[in-house]
Amino acid sequence: MADEVTYEVRGRIALITLNRPDYANAQNSAMTYALDAAFTRAVNDDEIAVLVLAGAGKHFCAGHDIGSPGRDADQSFDREAVLWWDHVGKDGADARYAREMEVYLGMCRRWREIPKPAIAMVHGACIAGGLMLAWVCDLIVAAQDAFFADPVVKMGVPGVEYFAHPWALGPRFAKEVLFTGGRFSAERAWQVGMVNQVVPRASLESATFALAEKVAEMPRFGLALAKRAVNQCEDLMGLRPGMDSVFGLHHLAHAHNAEVSGDSLGGLDARGMKQGG
Ligand code: ZN
Repeated sequence: MADEVTYEVRGRIALITLNRPDYANAQNSAMTYALDAAFTRAVNDDEIAVLVLAGAGKHFCAGHDIGSPGRDADQSFDREAVLWWDHVGKDGADARYAREMEVYLGMCRRWREIPKPAIAMVHGACIAGGLMLAWVCDLIVAAQDAFFADPVVKMGVPGVEYFAHPWALGPRFAKEVLFTGGRFSAERAWQVGMVNQVVPRASLESATFALAEKVAEMPRFGLALAKRAVNQCEDLMGLRPGMDSVFGLHHLAHAHNAEVSGDSLGGLDARGMKQGG
């Protein structure tokens, strides 16, 4: 497994850690493929009952990599579970759609649907693509210092690719988050039902593992069915077709940016996103 993600077994719990702390765990493609391998490994290991997803360093995840030296959006990777064709060597929207269908929407959906419970252990920044990783987990435990935002409307793009906003936040607050691009606190996230627990930073790990161990006591098949039951109902509440329809709007925005400014991100890099945010 690549260094971008570390994997540790603690009893019946797999601790999967985003490991680009120098870049606030910005997700490059190397990281998403490494995450995919880590989730697969945890599912295939019969000794593992629960997954915990964490971030190394000061932050959980600052989002997709749009400017670190390790940005690798133009590279091909070994693709074991094919969700679309390789984006490399394709033009325009064909390339963008292929890449994002695989590494963003497709992989996030697959991770949401793994048959074992996953818990996000969130501290510091959890921004845009970072929200996607927290949201695919079944439970979220947040430190008091955690903060959340999806500021991509600044790019003219209506939210990140895994568009769970109305379901994770409720429609009214989802609009506020998107329209302002502003940060919201762990406490606010708890109030709207996005996170399960808010705990002091110092006890984040002990609280998360205590919850994971409690869940791990349940029978494996029962947990898998309970997870599927809630996910199926969430899909019947429109999550899956909602995401499919919004993915089209998302790519309309990328294509508009590319047509008007020559850059699908509207000319904004990580620094540009931070300004005024
Ligand atoms: Zn996109």
